[in-house]
Amino acid sequence: MTIELPFDVSEVKGFLHRREALALYDYAHSASALGAVLEIGSYCGKSTIYLGLACQKAGRSLFALDHHRGSEEHQPGQWFHDPALADGAGGMDTFGEFRRNIDRAGLSDTVIPIVASSKNASRDWATPLGMVFIDGGHSLDAALTDYRCWASHVLRGGILAIHDIFPDPTEGGQAPIAVLKLALASGLFTQIDQIETLAVLRRL
Ligand code: MG
Repeated sequence: MTIELPFDVSEVKGFLHRREALALYDYAHSASALGAVLEIGSYCGKSTIYLGLACQKAGRSLFALDHHRGSEEHQPGQWFHDPALADGAGGMDTFGEFRRNIDRAGLSDTVIPIVASSKNASRDWATPLGMVFIDGGHSLDAALTDYRCWASHVLRGGILAIHDIFPDPTEGGQAPIAVLKLALASGLFTQIDQIETLAVLRRL
């Protein structure tokens, strides 16, 4: 499927391969037939734009969950820290940058930001989801929390996508692949695709 991008999305800060972005768009578009889409870990909105454009086309909402305080690796002094996103108080705040990008993409009526931790946002959640995309914190604790809090909300036939799958530990952290293994071992999901580091599973 070809996508009409509202602007050059490669300008948006973030870590997403072009092929992964297109796959997110395609799966979000088909999963939107089942229910709304939820993304965990929006950062500055790069993946949100691709998911959001698919949801917009399908007339669905995209819930974009992020505390916007940055993951462990984004904090001052860490490898992926971006000084432009510092909050001036020793931490990070990516929400302003995120909102500007979503507005610029014309998605403010489609994307529903949830500025909260994964655990708190899930506490009273009751909306069944057509697709969940896990791309939040990459510590084992954060990744497992995202899986435990949200995987059960994926509808039968729906999609669970997990970013940053690195089978070789020298290439990347191992928390996302641990979540992938857990999902497969649960018997609730089967893997239907792998695009670069993006694993795509379907709920049985
Ligand atoms: Mg990622």
